[in-house]
Amino acid sequence: MNHNPVEKRQHIGIIGAGVSGLRCADILLSHGFSVTIIEARNRLGGRICQSDELGYTVDIGPNWIHTWDSGEVHPIWKLALETGTPLHHWNERQLIYNSVGVSLPDDEAGKLSSLLWEIIGEAFESSAAANKRDNGRSIPREESMYDFVKRRAGEQALDSNERELLIQMSEMWGAYVGEPVWKQSLRFAWMEECCGGEEMFVESNYSAILNRISQPAREQAKILLNTEVVSVCTPERRSPRQKVELTTSEGNIHRFDEVVMTTPLGWLQKHPDCFWPTLPLKTSAAIKNLKLSQLEKVFITFPSAFWMTDMNEDTFPSYTNWLTPSYAEGTNPARWPQEVWNLAAFATPNKQPTLLFYLYGDCSRYIVNSIHGKAKEEKHAFLQAFFYPYYSRLPGFHAENQACQPKAILATEWLKDEFCGNGSYCNFQVGIEDADQDILILRDGCPERRLWFCGEHAAPFEECGTVAGAYLSGESAAKKIVGVYEGTMQDE
Ligand SMILES: Cc1cc2nc3c(=O)[nH]c(=O)nc-3n(C[C@H](O)[C@H](O)[C@H](O)COP(=O)(O)OP(=O)(O)OC[C@H]3O[C@@H](n4cnc5c(N)ncnc54)[C@H](O)[C@@H]3O)c2cc1C
Repeated sequence: MNHNPVEKRQHIGIIGAGVSGLRCADILLSHGFSVTIIEARNRLGGRICQSDELGYTVDIGPNWIHTWDSGEVHPIWKLALETGTPLHHWNERQLIYNSVGVSLPDDEAGKLSSLLWEIIGEAFESSAAANKRDNGRSIPREESMYDFVKRRAGEQALDSNERELLIQMSEMWGAYVGEPVWKQSLRFAWMEECCGGEEMFVESNYSAILNRISQPAREQAKILLNTEVVSVCTPERRSPRQKVELTTSEGNIHRFDEVVMTTPLGWLQKHPDCFWPTLPLKTSAAIKNLKLSQLEKVFITFPSAFWMTDMNEDTFPSYTNWLTPSYAEGTNPARWPQEVWNLAAFATPNKQPTLLFYLYGDCSRYIVNSIHGKAKEEKHAFLQAFFYPYYSRLPGFHAENQACQPKAILATEWLKDEFCGNGSYCNFQVGIEDADQDILILRDGCPERRLWFCGEHAAPFEECGTVAGAYLSGESAAKKIVGVYEGTMQDE
């Protein structure tokens, strides 16, 4: 429903049709603006994207919905419920293999995992307290979450073997933020706290949610697909009738009253010269300071879920982690830990005999660089050899049994995707001085130039890097533009 329609229909250009751009369009359209979305790909959704390569549909981008404990409505959870998207609550069980490939007894795995989460909770608290006290200055910028875990592990009543295991287990943080735990800035750990409430996993895929988010834009905005923006020419000062001029790779020019850039952080970092005049110093510094992580996913589907003894009971551990493997020297000499989620635990019809590996940091870069551009069979052979040392340790595995031979393997290659900025999402790595200020600068945009930013890298604190963050950032940028035309700058 349109309310407060702007007198003369201002025309807003949104670059990018990911969640942030689509949500931004929705709010602007509902306030009577005319909207054109310019999208480089041949589809909507950006990092929300599905593949049918395994013979059924999976999300190659997000799957998790991390809700809040604040009591506020989580917009993506709400959309999941409204669209009947099935959500999975993982069981609490986990299977942990030590560095020689022997599984830990259940009670030891449970005890160490609870302790680890307590310590991570303390890291968030200590980071948040330092932020309140002195903007985090009392935590050296080179100090990492790993330093904190190691320190606290040393203070626990544990024997040396358990202490070592606890420290190795902390590497699972990498799969949350996309880079190793020793790269996680402790000073800005509070910005990763996401999000305190229930954690759910989309059992089917995000397409119904995306469909709902994109509906207003599909119905009322002009959408130009396969159209890459290569330059953004803005006025230096806001004055009447001046426009922002966008040039596409085909040399076409589009003029708008305001422009919202939703191109990912990695894209902005690689194309500082696309802006004319160059961005204000503080904006370009913020873009440079923030870092991008490298999360990738590998789905391995088997003829049946050989690791499950009972397909009707959710008793097999949701999560399996192979810590610092010393037994795969030929394929993984760096001893990158490996972890999977058991997709056979889902309810019918979404249950699949599939293991979902999450990779991060150098392991992601190694795998993607090894398979990119290769034929399907070659990729399959490489990936099967790489992951064999791990899945072959699961209960029920017999090398000669056909049920234990991977049927299909799908590995994401976000690293090679220029339109997601060749990375997964932003994170806050050791060395960063003022991450919160950098995010605020992006959220403020350059109103004097009629130029705005949104996306997961300009999201509310604690929601950066998520779908909800991207959605809320789009909403916020749109409200700021509405504020300009309604005469007041609206705060988030
Ligand atoms: C592997 C992976 C797993 C993830 N897992 C989760 C998860 O479980 N839960 C969660 O909440 N989040 C997760 N995320 C993060 C989440 O996907 C993103 O935060 C969110 O989708 C980002 O939306 P966005 O609108 O900011 O960016 P995007 O979706 O990237 O949208 C930007 C759009 O801009 C377009 N574009 C880029 N350059 C140009 C150009 N020059 N001209 C025109 N168009 C351009 C792109 O094609 C794209 O469509 C994951 C991400 C990845 C990669």
